[in-house]
Amino acid sequence: MKKKEPELLFPKQPKHRKRMKHKKNILQEKNGICFLCSILEGDTRQQYGLHKHHVFFGVANRKLSEEDGLYVYLCVRHHETGQDAVHVDKGTRVMLQIYAQEVYEKAHTREEFIRRYGRSYIQ
Ligand SMILES: [Zn+2]
Ligand SMILES: [Zn+2]
Repeated sequence: MKKKEPELLFPKQPKHRKRMKHKKNILQEKNGICFLCSILEGDTRQQYGLHKHHVFFGVANRKLSEEDGLYVYLCVRHHETGQDAVHVDKGTRVMLQIYAQEVYEKAHTREEFIRRYGRSYIQ
């Protein structure tokens, strides 16, 4: 009997797929809902003026995050002004980074992630 291949659960992108620099968001649908309001507070109301947050930011990583579709839409409170905003609270920031790495690794290896982003956020 053939050994079950775990990667079949997360098939890689087909080879004929067109090369795109800017990938569709792979973390969240663009639906007008703040990602953190939704997962932290169960608040799925649509909000205006959400900020696009690149999960891996900084000079080089922001561009890679854009290319890989690793960004989320956040309300201003969860992006910048709240106590648990991603740019204020390390716990929130790292939680998102771990989640994004997990999603990335559905189609890539851990080594590919580290080569691209410099380190693993998953211990
Ligand atoms: Zn929010
Ligand atoms: Zn941001």
